[in-house]
Amino acid sequence: MFTKILIANRGEIACRIARTARRLGVRTVAVFSDADAQARHVSLCDEAVRLGPAPPAESYLRIPRLIEAAQATGAQAIHPGYGFLSENAAFAEACQAAGITFIGPPVPAIRVMGSKAESKALMARAGVPLIPGFHAEEASDARLTQAAREIGFPVLIKASAGGGGKGMRVVDDEAGFGPALAAARREARAAFGDDRILLEKYLDHPRHVEVQVFADRLGTTVTLFDRDCSIQRRHQKVIEEAPAPGLAAPLRAGLAEAAIAAARAVAYEGAGTVEFLVQDDAFYFIEMNTRLQVEHPVTEMITGLDLVEWQLRVAAGEPLPKGADAITAQGHAFEARLCAEDPARDFAPSTGKIRHLRPPATGPHVRLDTGIVEGDRVSVHYDPLLAKLIVWDVDRDAALRRLRGALTEVQVAGIATNIEFLGAVAAHPAFAAGALSTRFIETHASALF
Ligand code: ADP
Repeated sequence: MFTKILIANRGEIACRIARTARRLGVRTVAVFSDADAQARHVSLCDEAVRLGPAPPAESYLRIPRLIEAAQATGAQAIHPGYGFLSENAAFAEACQAAGITFIGPPVPAIRVMGSKAESKALMARAGVPLIPGFHAEEASDARLTQAAREIGFPVLIKASAGGGGKGMRVVDDEAGFGPALAAARREARAAFGDDRILLEKYLDHPRHVEVQVFADRLGTTVTLFDRDCSIQRRHQKVIEEAPAPGLAAPLRAGLAEAAIAAARAVAYEGAGTVEFLVQDDAFYFIEMNTRLQVEHPVTEMITGLDLVEWQLRVAAGEPLPKGADAITAQGHAFEARLCAEDPARDFAPSTGKIRHLRPPATGPHVRLDTGIVEGDRVSVHYDPLLAKLIVWDVDRDAALRRLRGALTEVQVAGIATNIEFLGAVAAHPAFAAGALSTRFIETHASALF
């Protein structure tokens, strides 16, 4: 095991990683921007290195500076968390070149899965089901228009380099296609510096179901069950749960098998998530995230495993701590994402000082993962995620009751948050009934806002 790692992130995930490292006796180096000099993640680590001014491009995204920080402090490995550089192949490569272990998969796996077009081509070869669509390395507008016609409207335009729902557009008919394509290209160029586009048949009532995979360097690949992340606003996850409720056994087995095939096809190592859309009895691969997910705690709650520990062990060359037969799940878990955003202003990010913060009563069945403390300032520079509320109970109904209760206990004053909105979703009878689809929020909007 490493004796010291650098955590190239901030907020709740940096705190989360530091907690496991400490438990394993691994020393930690935090990095911070000027906006985060007093942040909780800095105080939780053994050492800290300043990166630069608040904007991510001048701090958390500075590859040479991060490598220097690891070298100067003698950190043997870097954990990238999620977001920032976690899926950046150049960063993983820079770590390797500097003789530092990148706590994540090998560079080629990051690269292939980072391209929606390339990953789909590879998945098709591996026999993983895809949504009917069109993906090519480069395609002219005319070729894409023709492909859209062949797929049949409605179609979904996606940025090949996409993430976070950016550059995505639903088009209902041919007349709308040209303008939507131009807008998607513009948005993709601005967000990713890459305006390549792919098309998919738009599914009108899918669920988002994903499978957690883990692979060690000795050739063992396992799944750690599935999660449902259908409750989304503008393609961003709001509430997640594990296991995905109400899946017929053959469907669930098919998803797990496809996830293993996907991971093997890219010679995966470490923690990864294979995402699918499920509609009626069919499932389709959408992408693989080559990092720890925001929602990994729901998997931890049902398995009793620490996924960050597994990541560290795999990166250190150890075998997976448990084999497929020894990995079991119990009960049900939910995660709600508490964000600094204002539902009254169309969920615009809110900023300011957190004057008051009351966590729920936590315990073995209620967990709050957060990087903030009372008195912190929430700035415009970073992700609006303030905290993740995670609950567990013996079954879905009991876990949902626990989620509702805990949501009423949390209080944040000083900035607008989505806590009441989360409470409204958790209280909705259709949610209790497990009637999930990625359009849940849109469908029930009048009862939720
Ligand atoms: P991103 O990388 O931007 O997160 P994804 O491809 O992972 O994009 O898709 C994010 C979400 O967008 C999905 O969870 C789903 O809600 C929606 N989505 C993606 N593809 C389709 C599709 N073909 N039809 C309907 N909804 C889709």
